[in-house]
Amino acid sequence: MKQIWNQTAEELKQKFGVREDGLTTAEVERIRMEKGENVLEEGKKKSVLQVFLEQFCDLLVIILMIAASISFVSGNTESTIVILLVLIMNAILGTAQHVKAEKSLESLKQLSSPNAKVMRNGTVIEIPSREVVPGDIVMLEAGDMIVADGRILNNFSLQVNESSLTGESTNVDKSDMVLEEPEVALAERVNMVYSGSLVTYGRAKVLITATGMETELGKIASLMNRAKERKTPLQESLDAFSAKLAILIMIISGLVFGLCLYRKMELLDSMMFAVALAVAAIPEALSSIVTIVQAFGTQKMARENAIIKDLKAVESLGCVSVICSDKTGTLTQNKMTVQKVYVNGIVQNPSEVDMSKQTSRYLMYNAVLNNDSSIVDGKGIGDPTEYALLEMFPNVKNIANVMKKNANAELQAASVKTTNENFVTTAPYQVLRNAMQRLEEVPFDSDRKLMSSKYQLDNKSIVFTKGALDVLLERCFSIQYEDGVRPMTDKEKEKILAQNQNFSENGLRVLAFVYKESNETLSVQTEYGYTFLGLIAMVDPPRPESMQAVADAKMAGIRPVMITGDHKITAVAIAKQIGIFEEGDMAVTGMELDAMSEEELDKNITKISVYARVSPENKIRIVESWQKRGNIVSMTGDGVNDAPALKKADIGVAMGITGTEVSKDAAAMILSDDNFATIIKAVANGRNVYRNIKNAILFLLSGNMAGILSVLCTSLAGLPVPFAPVHLLFMNLLTDSLPAIAIGMEPADDNLLKEKPRKTSEGILTKDFLTAIGVQGALIAVATMIAYFSGLQTDAKMASTMAFATLTLARLFHGFNCRSNSSIFKIGLMTNKYTIGAFFAGIAFLALVLFVPFLQGVFEISTLYSIKLIQIVVLAFMPTVVIQTAKSIDDKK
Ligand code: ATP
Repeated sequence: MKQIWNQTAEELKQKFGVREDGLTTAEVERIRMEKGENVLEEGKKKSVLQVFLEQFCDLLVIILMIAASISFVSGNTESTIVILLVLIMNAILGTAQHVKAEKSLESLKQLSSPNAKVMRNGTVIEIPSREVVPGDIVMLEAGDMIVADGRILNNFSLQVNESSLTGESTNVDKSDMVLEEPEVALAERVNMVYSGSLVTYGRAKVLITATGMETELGKIASLMNRAKERKTPLQESLDAFSAKLAILIMIISGLVFGLCLYRKMELLDSMMFAVALAVAAIPEALSSIVTIVQAFGTQKMARENAIIKDLKAVESLGCVSVICSDKTGTLTQNKMTVQKVYVNGIVQNPSEVDMSKQTSRYLMYNAVLNNDSSIVDGKGIGDPTEYALLEMFPNVKNIANVMKKNANAELQAASVKTTNENFVTTAPYQVLRNAMQRLEEVPFDSDRKLMSSKYQLDNKSIVFTKGALDVLLERCFSIQYEDGVRPMTDKEKEKILAQNQNFSENGLRVLAFVYKESNETLSVQTEYGYTFLGLIAMVDPPRPESMQAVADAKMAGIRPVMITGDHKITAVAIAKQIGIFEEGDMAVTGMELDAMSEEELDKNITKISVYARVSPENKIRIVESWQKRGNIVSMTGDGVNDAPALKKADIGVAMGITGTEVSKDAAAMILSDDNFATIIKAVANGRNVYRNIKNAILFLLSGNMAGILSVLCTSLAGLPVPFAPVHLLFMNLLTDSLPAIAIGMEPADDNLLKEKPRKTSEGILTKDFLTAIGVQGALIAVATMIAYFSGLQTDAKMASTMAFATLTLARLFHGFNCRSNSSIFKIGLMTNKYTIGAFFAGIAFLALVLFVPFLQGVFEISTLYSIKLIQIVVLAFMPTVVIQTAKSIDDKK
């Protein structure tokens, strides 16, 4: 049987029922009904029931089961039921959190999934990869990710990296020829492309032959184990901390149990002490709080245009100390407008450029034909540098006449009529492009900084090349003037360079245009021996928000560095405007960087704030050098060759609009607005997420500490146990979890960007932090113990009631203390409404237990009279008064 690679393009088009202009919407709908969406089925996801049951495989739950059994044996069935109910509620909450966090990750995944350019109904449109169907015609170009399997219909030097399928990391040259052999190994099917591979060079038109699970990748994916859910370093370190803590608690509980028995306490009571201690101490909510706060954080960042692909990035973002950013489009607007044209030795406005002059005509042909962008409905499609040239074209002088007169032969050859009508409905650049067929091309890439294409013009084979002047000038042997071609002398070069310098000092981006007559096959090796035509200078203004963002970065102790493919002087001019380049800083070109030794670079790295004309390989050296100094580096990139640098950086940042799919694949974060200011916002959010997690942990652990200290004190003093396990359970799982989540939602404040970046080596449980937990926990424990002793004057039940109510209420008040390092007067009570909601919800829960007779029974609560109630409220409020006073004093320092 003939395989896909053995069939001709025509045969395949017929087989898939598609024409040159692609499928129609109706056809697509029909095929999608039959074949489904182009997605790989996820490995078996855990069902909700599974997640629910998993909540019970936890050390705490096992301890509680023991507590429930003890209660049951001691005849306290109500308490047993309450423990079980609370456990079920805890499991429901845990499941809901899990499902929500998963959903938010899923939506992030969708936001960062690749797009594909397909021909449908005669026009090329960009669609999400999942919408691609067999029979679609997909346009591939360098930087694209291949989203389904397909057969190449037209090949323009396509090179593909298929390492995800074949393991072979070198790029494969593709072809559109029919293969004869039916049995060909996947790696040798040169006229096919496969889902999961990356286009590293060239272009191609491809007919999609298989999607989703029918692709070669799908076949492997169904065999492969799906990637396990990975925890972030913070979650891992907290898990490890919880595990260690649990062991410690078990030992202490064991000792307390032994001590009680030694004191001849009843066995059941002794066990109750031990279990109460364990329940009070284990910070069961820790890991899930981290997940929730991170999930909220990433959602907020996504709303602010920073899409996090890797949860680890949220943590590292807070530590970023160097941001290396592209210039074009990230710091600038990427809205280019041609300002000046340098041709025939003079600088002109575009409207003065005369197409009836030979040099200007060739310059304009080069600008318009050697150009892959287009304008559809007034909007530029493609590279902004290129469509700026198209936008300039209608303004030049004598365009219509010349096009008619000169292009006549060319237009007739292409059997296109240049009538007036044609001009009215079709843009001038399009008329020209319709008339002239591109014969060969070498696409632009940011390593060469050139683009070339070959046309038949004036009965000659003409190669047009455009690109960076520093690359092209050395390749020119002559220069074109109106009166003919002159040799390229040193004097001519100086003149051109002086003009380039002048444009660049004004922050203009300069492109050089050259041509040559040549019958050789066009390739990277033949881009030599040119005649110089002229320069075109365009303006790309800085984004208005860049200046503020750079200032914010500096205030936050973050060093912004510009890394650009553009000319050094242009780059420095823009860097000065936005504040990246300051007096005394250095600017270095890629070539100068190549000449620097490792040591030289390491020595100067902190002085260099602009890198110009860099190649993607240079970026890796820059990242490494900063990292050697212990910095956490964020690096932006958009091109296909940027992927290694993005991976090397601690936070690789890809551009959502102009970035290639390859760079998005390699990045940890995608900017959906390509904006530098968004990186700074993301850093602030990253810091905020970390701070909120830390505060939530402080809240949980200091509360637990208060519980532990109270239980320990009473057990050591041989007094009755202050809390039944259900009391502690009630606090830990109900009244504590809401304020902890609310603290996790604390909005970012200005102070976050005033601090220096956090060191990654600095763990969350620093000495200061542990001291705060200890001191705050002790304060609450003191209040609880006073209440306990006051109750003990009545009886043990009242003591326990007072201790329980005071501890719960004090922890609810404490929620406000843990919002920030500053006092509540400084940050404002109402700035985080969730904490208010959580507080009142906690009060409502507590009131139910204290005042509803049935629950009073279950929780073994004594009825409280007003004097006791007042005592409880005052005592519970005391720790907060002390903590807030200390914070206020600290604020004034
Ligand atoms: P950044 O790296 O900050 O995004 P950039 O856009 O200038 O800056 P590149 O796209 O790598 O970086 O461009 C480098 C140089 O290549 C430009 O300064 C210009 O001289 C040249 N160039 C850019 N686009 C084209 C193009 N479409 N055709 C030919 N040459 C181009």
